[in-house]
Amino acid sequence: MAVFVCTRCGNCCRAIGPQIEIERRLGAKDCYCRFRLTGERSLVHLDPGFSLPDEDEPIESGICPFLADGEGGALCTVYTTRPRWCREYQCIAMQIANQQGERIGKVSGRRSLSTINPELLACWEQQIRPLTSQDDGTWRQQAGTILRRAGYQVKIYDGTDDA
Ligand code: SF4
Ligand code: SF4
Repeated sequence: MAVFVCTRCGNCCRAIGPQIEIERRLGAKDCYCRFRLTGERSLVHLDPGFSLPDEDEPIESGICPFLADGEGGALCTVYTTRPRWCREYQCIAMQIANQQGERIGKVSGRRSLSTINPELLACWEQQIRPLTSQDDGTWRQQAGTILRRAGYQVKIYDGTDDA
């Protein structure tokens, strides 16, 4: 299995981020935030170089108030103390199912396959691991094509594929 490499696409933060709100400020660097879905609270501290947005500064709707654009992609400004629900979020870049629609594997981060299915693992090692494209979008499309030809159902989570 490949080592997990985060692409910093920010999809995880866009998925759960809208459920996070700043509940109580404790100065410019600390606050309690709340996960709307469960009501759970968490104390977070802004990482070095970051401060809480001003209270009267509008926070873009549909994103986490702690998500920022950084060099190389999305950036969590409270990464060191990010809440439990963020730590436990399961990254999924690609979902793979068999012909019966049963989920048998997933790809997370850049190119990390998780599966215990020996046929899928063999297909991955023989046909997908040799792919050389450095562009993640191209690689995902190529990998998806190979998997579909091999009879698998594939869902790619990059906003470009609804198959
Ligand atoms: S707190 Fe950080 S890890 Fe959690 S959703 Fe917001 S930006 Fe992402
Ligand atoms: S690769 Fe996964 S963990 Fe990294 S930012 Fe994208 S969705 Fe989140």
